[in-house]
Amino acid sequence: MSFIPYDLNDDKLKKIQREGLKWTVGHAYNNSPFYKKKLDHANIRPEDIRSLEDIEHLPLTDKNDLQQEYPFPLRAAPFEDIVRIHASSGTTGKRKVLCYTQKDIDVWADIFARCYELAGLTRKDRVQIAVGYGLWTAGVGFQAGCERFGAMAVPIGPANAEMHCEMMVDMQTTVFCSTASMALLMAEEIHKRNLLSSIKVNKIILGAERHSPSMRTRIKELMGVEHIFDIYGLTELYGPGTGLDCRHHNGIHYWADHFIFEILDPETLKPVPCGQQGELVVTTLSKVGSPLIRYRTHDVTRLFNQKCSCGVPFPMHDRILGRTDDMFIYRAVNIYPSQIDHVLSKVDGIGSEFQIHLKQRESGRDMMLIKVERAANTDTVNDMHLAEQLETEIRRKILVRCRVEILDHGDLPRTQRKSQRVFDHRNNSTSEA
Ligand SMILES: [Zn+2]
Repeated sequence: MSFIPYDLNDDKLKKIQREGLKWTVGHAYNNSPFYKKKLDHANIRPEDIRSLEDIEHLPLTDKNDLQQEYPFPLRAAPFEDIVRIHASSGTTGKRKVLCYTQKDIDVWADIFARCYELAGLTRKDRVQIAVGYGLWTAGVGFQAGCERFGAMAVPIGPANAEMHCEMMVDMQTTVFCSTASMALLMAEEIHKRNLLSSIKVNKIILGAERHSPSMRTRIKELMGVEHIFDIYGLTELYGPGTGLDCRHHNGIHYWADHFIFEILDPETLKPVPCGQQGELVVTTLSKVGSPLIRYRTHDVTRLFNQKCSCGVPFPMHDRILGRTDDMFIYRAVNIYPSQIDHVLSKVDGIGSEFQIHLKQRESGRDMMLIKVERAANTDTVNDMHLAEQLETEIRRKILVRCRVEILDHGDLPRTQRKSQRVFDHRNNSTSEA
């Protein structure tokens, strides 16, 4: 039995999207006072939406909309049909609460089951779930998808490394699902305890946290797994499970028969050409409890238009490259710290910590200095060569000139929280990123 509809083609998909869009706009307009007000304000009636292109006339929704109408902001179904809520933490203000009907829960389990299928699992797999359970969506999504798929769920939650190691050995877990930092912690723990020969994990599914390619490589090496997959999702959009990269790892296939992904320029809010990066904006096609119409995720990625050789008939987007809030402008180019991170991670001899300093010269021209640490246990002989190599790579990949300074390993501050990467000394301001 397959959860991925391999017989889907572009025409069928477009038709599903067109019908889904029309249904969603009508459903939201007729059942959610919030959307009715918003669409009335934009002077749009459901019958104005006839083709996929008409999506551009619809107003955008943003996280503020989910806070103003607290506690049930986008609700478009009667309470007797709502069987569950989830919430994601708002960095400012109230939580964002989303309503689920039984149909929403079923769709979510179905699309999550597709993720496991795409990762090449079989019903004999044993899936150890190390992400959080409760109000936020992660754990229960991984579990319901696993049960729907027919593999065995080992639902543990974050817990501690001790318990995870014990269960991994005793249950003979084959698939481990966690955040990247948890996977790295486990990989190091397994290595330290010399457990590699006692465990059977061959796949890792990472969600909910951006991470660098060097982190993946390290996890892969230490744990000896075949594949590490990236799962995407956000609570507003069911939760994790909206897409996964296939075994070719060229991008994340997303379930475009359940949502439309647009990429907009975060400044102008106009669509960018396919392949160019911008902000991901999502519209759901079948969500009943809390439908989304052009919801701004503030995640930065891009869509790919080439077909993947794996045969999955769904389009792909890139990994999440950053958040729109992290972006800075340097010599008229929009840059995300993650792009710098990506370039650095491809060069040997340097560590994973870096800082970006933006300054203004006397001439008024901006300059960028990147401070990066030498790898542990290396000496200074290669510094000049390394700096030149990094400057060249950044010019080639990001198309801007900068200066690179190599520091001793351990010179940059370490923090449990997200490290500050960007220090903007232009106009004496320091931007948090
Ligand atoms: Zn593929």
